Amino acid sequence: MSDKIYFTPGPSGLYPTVASHIQSALLNDVCSLSHRSKKYESIHTSTVEAIRELLQIPSDFHIFFTGSATEIWDRVLENCVEENSFHLVNGSFSKRFYETAKELNKNPKKFEVAFGKGFNTSEITVPEAELLCMTHNETSSGVMMPLSDIYSIRNQKPDSLLVIDAVSSIPYPIFDFTLVDSVLFSVQKGFGLPAGLGVWVVNNKCIEKANLIATKGKSIGSYHSLPSLLSKSVSNQTPETPNVLGIYLLGKVAQDILNRGADKVRKETELKASLLYDYIEKSANFSAFVENPAHRSTTVVVANTILPSPQINPLLEKYNMSIGTGYGKTKDQQVRIANFPGHSVEQIEELISNLKKSIA
Ligand SMILES: *Cc1c(COP(=O)(O)O)cnc(C)c1O
Repeated sequence: MSDKIYFTPGPSGLYPTVASHIQSALLNDVCSLSHRSKKYESIHTSTVEAIRELLQIPSDFHIFFTGSATEIWDRVLENCVEENSFHLVNGSFSKRFYETAKELNKNPKKFEVAFGKGFNTSEITVPEAELLCMTHNETSSGVMMPLSDIYSIRNQKPDSLLVIDAVSSIPYPIFDFTLVDSVLFSVQKGFGLPAGLGVWVVNNKCIEKANLIATKGKSIGSYHSLPSLLSKSVSNQTPETPNVLGIYLLGKVAQDILNRGADKVRKETELKASLLYDYIEKSANFSAFVENPAHRSTTVVVANTILPSPQINPLLEKYNMSIGTGYGKTKDQQVRIANFPGHSVEQIEELISNLKKSIA
C-alpha cells in the first residue's frame, strides 16, 4: 500500500487500521468461512452491535447488509412505496434517487432547488406520499441538510415514512430515530473502507409496509426484499453469500472509532471542517461554493477554484496527496475535499499548508 493520502469523497482514503484488519481477516480465514456458520454469525453480530452503538440506533431498528447504497435506493422504493414517493432534490445523488423512483414507476414527486443550494423549509409543502426521501449530505455539491430542517419537513407528514440517504455523512450525524424510519449508507466514504457494502437501517413500520404491499398481491421485488432480509437477520445471517470481508472490516473500523471516542471523532470532524472553510475563504484561488454557511457540509467541503481542478492534483503529487474534482458539469471549476474520520487534524493541516504553498 502506498502512503498517499486520499481526500477524495468516495472512494476515499482507507481508515488507518484497515490494512491490519485485512491481514487479521486473512489469518482468520474470514474470506473462506461459510456464511451459514457460527463464526460468520459472530462477525455479523459484532458488526451490527458496533454500528448500533456508534450511530446510536435503538434496539427496535433492524440493520441489514446489501451490495451498495444504490441498491438500497431500489429496495426502499420497492418495499415501502406502493403509489408514490416524495424527494428533496438539490444535486446529482438526490436527483438519481428521484429518477430511480421514476424508473420503478413509483410516480415520485419532488421539490427541487438549484445545484449548490440548500432547502428553505418554509418554502416546502410536503404532498401526500408514502415515503419521504431526503439526502442528508449531497456529495456532488457539498450541501448538508441541518437535522432540524429534516425533522421539521418530516413533521408536516408524520404518517409518511422517512428515509435518509446519509452515505457521505455517516458516521458524523446522530439521527433522532423517533422521527426517522430508515437510514441508508455505504462504507467507502465516511468509514474509509473498500467499496461494495451497503447498510440499511429500518424500523418495523417499514417492514409492515412491505408486508402490506405484498399482501395486496403487488411486487416488493425479490432479492433483498425486507421480509427476506428480516427472516435471515433474526439468525444473524443474510439471504445471499454476503461480502463477509466487508462486514468484518466495517465492524472493526466502527469499533476503532468507538475506542477513539465517537464524540471526540465528531468534534474533530467539526474542527477540520472549520480549518478547511477558513482557508478557502481566505484563499485567492478558492471560494466556498455553498453560499449559506448553515448549508455547508461538514464532511464534504466543496470550493470553486480559479485554477482548473485537473491541474491541482499534479501539484499535490509531490506531497503524496490527492483531492476530489468537482462533480459532473462542475468538474473543472470545483474541488471536493473529504473530511472523514480517517483524516486526522494533522493531515488536514498539512493539506492546507501544501495547497497554500502550491496555489495560494
Ligand atoms: C456515493 C453516494 C451514493 C451511492 O453509493 P454507492 O455505494 O456507490 O452505491 C448514494 N448517495 C450519496 C449521497 C452518495 O454520496
